[in-house]
Amino acid sequence: MHQFIDGQFQTGASGRKLDIINPATGESVETVTLAGRADVDQAVAAARAAFPSWAAATPGERSTVLSRFARLLAEQAEDYAVAESRQTGKPLRLVREFDIPGTIDNADFFAGAARNLEGKATAEYSPDHTSSIRREAIGVIGSISPWNYPLQMAAWKILPAIAAGNTIVLKPAQITPLTSLMFARTLQEAGLPDGVVNIIVGDGSEAGAALMRHPGVDMVSFTGSTTVGRTVLEAAAINSKRVHLELGGKAPFVVFDDADIEAAAHGAVAGSLINTGQDCTAATRAIVHRSIHDTFVARVAELYRDIRVGLPDDEDTDIGPLASYAHRDRVAAMVDRARNYATIVTGGSTPGDLLAPGAFYTPTLITGAAPDSEIVRDEVFGPVLAVLPFDSDDEAIALANDTPYGLAASAWTRDVYRSLRATRDIKAGCVWVNDHIPIISEMPHGGVKESGFGKDMSTYSFDEYTQVKHVMFDITGTAHKDWHRTIYKLR
Ligand code: NAP
Ligand code: MG
Repeated sequence: MHQFIDGQFQTGASGRKLDIINPATGESVETVTLAGRADVDQAVAAARAAFPSWAAATPGERSTVLSRFARLLAEQAEDYAVAESRQTGKPLRLVREFDIPGTIDNADFFAGAARNLEGKATAEYSPDHTSSIRREAIGVIGSISPWNYPLQMAAWKILPAIAAGNTIVLKPAQITPLTSLMFARTLQEAGLPDGVVNIIVGDGSEAGAALMRHPGVDMVSFTGSTTVGRTVLEAAAINSKRVHLELGGKAPFVVFDDADIEAAAHGAVAGSLINTGQDCTAATRAIVHRSIHDTFVARVAELYRDIRVGLPDDEDTDIGPLASYAHRDRVAAMVDRARNYATIVTGGSTPGDLLAPGAFYTPTLITGAAPDSEIVRDEVFGPVLAVLPFDSDDEAIALANDTPYGLAASAWTRDVYRSLRATRDIKAGCVWVNDHIPIISEMPHGGVKESGFGKDMSTYSFDEYTQVKHVMFDITGTAHKDWHRTIYKLR
């Protein structure tokens, strides 16, 4: 029973079964029955029915549920860690130290933020009227999340939406639905009314597309590929839904000649290999000054070779498998094509022995690829870093911006002027200086260009999940108001 609708678990109406596979071993973790159109309709109806009273709950009441949820999540952390690791192949260390604490912090943040929704000052912008702004919930949110960070994505989608008084139907990626279901269950334990959060486990092109097109949905929020993102945009046009899209990235990692090379090398390793490179902000294109290019490449290669690719339960494991065999094969095929036009400095292989049954791939460093080659332009979403040389600062910025994406970027320099220019000139939703990856609940995450639009996390997410209403009061109490004479004169 893997559909969570109106506070109840039920079996998917499609009748089609799917095994959730642990990509570290190939073993089935659980079998789910996928949602059909009827589940989507039912979930949207439940969310619609739950909306008026949840929207009318006080900020304090909503905050209380989120605070309780954060505490319950902390108590249940180990169950979540195991489920998340099993369905994605993530190392337990990563889940315990990154995914879970990040999610708890998000919940705590939105518990506080729920009580701090603000609007413009109530004031007299005309002498005869008092204006005020109401910041109101939008209604039913239809959300679709990807498989790279299932738990954190459930948090990013659900928490700001419900903190602001909306109700939601979330469709997680079908290969990783388990922690989204747990999330909804824990929210229920925390006192969330039935129907406020509903989880549909189904295929993207069926249940996902039906949710995006549904006339009972007021806003769609999607994280995933650019290709599907475009279909979401089209579906939203049907009833003019509000849209929030997070469509991945191809983050540049710019290393100027005055940078601390050791810091940049470590930053590149962590920034490119986090979550086995399945991170939309991951460092994918190291753009390195020609004078330090070879030193940088040699150091990253050395660190890459020391990375322990291993089983998720092993404390010594640095990176686990990719999230699925299909995805591992896609990554391997891209690297194989790159062999024809670039140099694979290290990696580019699937480990054998104990790891042979899993969807593993070794950290892969690539040099000599042209700026317009596939490996430099397209999202690989795996443990792969391409290094490109540059000669001038202008060229570095041009290379950094030579991508349809604009989600995240970093600049490595000890020169304050360079860092200021780089952070101004690189087109991205986030630019780090002398680091790459850290995210915090208080700050927005979201892209520009074909990385999409709209912000996750932070109070900026409320700009997505609320709408402002102008309320204007006449304060003269007169029947024939001054401005009426423009229309008709009192005779
Ligand atoms: P995807 O197809 O865009 O999947 C993301 C989500 O969209 C999943 O929940 C998927 O459902 C759903 N979906 C698929 N087709 C849909 C449709 N027609 N209408 C509505 N929803 C639909 O991404 P993918 O195929 O898993 O991965 C492909 C590439 O996307 C990756 O290699 C990576 O480059 C990029 N990606 C980016 C992010 C990111 O964080 N921005 C995350 C994941 C992937 P089902 O999977 O259940 O069918
Ligand atoms: Mg897909």
